[in-house]
Amino acid sequence: MPEVQLVNVTKTFEKGKIVAVDNVSFRVQDKEYFSLIGPSGCGKTTLLRIVAGLVQPDEGEIRIENKLVNPIPPEDRSIGFVFQTYALFPHMNVWDNVTYGPRVKAWGNKERTRIGREMLEMVRLYERLDALPSELSGGMMQRVALARALAAGAKLLLLDEPLGALDAKIRFELRYELRKFVKDLGLTAIHVTHDQGEAMAISDRIAVMRKGKILQIGTPQELYMKPQHIFVAHFIGESNFLEGYITEVNKKGSVVKLRGRLTVHVSDKTKNKGERVVLMVRPETFKMEEGRKKRVNSMFGHIEKFRFEGTNIRYDVLLENEDRIAIVRPTLMGEWFNVGDRVTVSFSPNKSYIFTYPRKGLREELTLE
Ligand code: ADP
Ligand code: MG
Repeated sequence: MPEVQLVNVTKTFEKGKIVAVDNVSFRVQDKEYFSLIGPSGCGKTTLLRIVAGLVQPDEGEIRIENKLVNPIPPEDRSIGFVFQTYALFPHMNVWDNVTYGPRVKAWGNKERTRIGREMLEMVRLYERLDALPSELSGGMMQRVALARALAAGAKLLLLDEPLGALDAKIRFELRYELRKFVKDLGLTAIHVTHDQGEAMAISDRIAVMRKGKILQIGTPQELYMKPQHIFVAHFIGESNFLEGYITEVNKKGSVVKLRGRLTVHVSDKTKNKGERVVLMVRPETFKMEEGRKKRVNSMFGHIEKFRFEGTNIRYDVLLENEDRIAIVRPTLMGEWFNVGDRVTVSFSPNKSYIFTYPRKGLREELTLE
């Protein structure tokens, strides 16, 4: 059963001008569902293709089950690859597509039939074995692609945006199926996506990438609750970022002075007095009340925008210090506010985070590239 390890892997294109993967190291455990996420162009596909052996790294080692596989060609790495576009053989029916691997490997007829049937039953398409890919929906084609990858005996499944081309509803259903297949069959999966919701829903652990580097690896909860970079806080879930500096560090935490001399308290005391920081508070963390109230960390403002999103209502609040924050409230819990309402918003000191102000500025840090 495969454990996958990358050690100091770098890959450049265009004679070094494009650094697609920049000194990346990580270890995927045996039977783990591991996701790589990050904005478009950050190097996810290149990294996955390096694991598959379809791209040779400039530097670094790839180990599968502790064995150095750099010199081993893709077909000998026991890997199943599923792409965003279904990549089925269009002229072959479902059965021939799924049993392609076993045929190439010249497995016996009986074994081929058994595995083909087992895989197609797993993806619930056994009754469609005569269909051509063009007769199937996108979701079905992707299930065939998965069955085909697994029928060839893959223990390591590499998935590059496998759900990216599907309708929202199917995408939702298939993400849980994917995880279930991987877990039921005891496989290891590396799943690439730019959809943080998808990664959060199915992964044991996630690596957040940006500009060829991995910023943080953790469980979905760790990334959400303990982001170690502003970009991770921005990319995973949603965040409000307010600029300020630390005026005091004491037993209880730190005092942060925001724009307009607004002062708030946070439990975090990892920063120093005088340090320029970014305060992060998630939109669902705020308490919001009508009128002017005195609370811990209260800030006053008015509702500038109201957006009904179904499950949630989203408010844009313009604070008196001219900072803007987004607040998200469950639609069916508590009262609704209207545009123009004067409100007090507050948050608990232990439900906020402070980051060192980024060297290149906050705006640059938050760009999705
Ligand atoms: P992602 O999958 O995260 O969108 P990619 O791995 O496809 O990112 O690409 C990372 C960077 O490498 C991008 O800047 C992309 O343009 C570049 N790149 C990828 N493949 C090649 C290639 N074959 N030749 C030149 N540049 C490439
Ligand atoms: Mg890609």
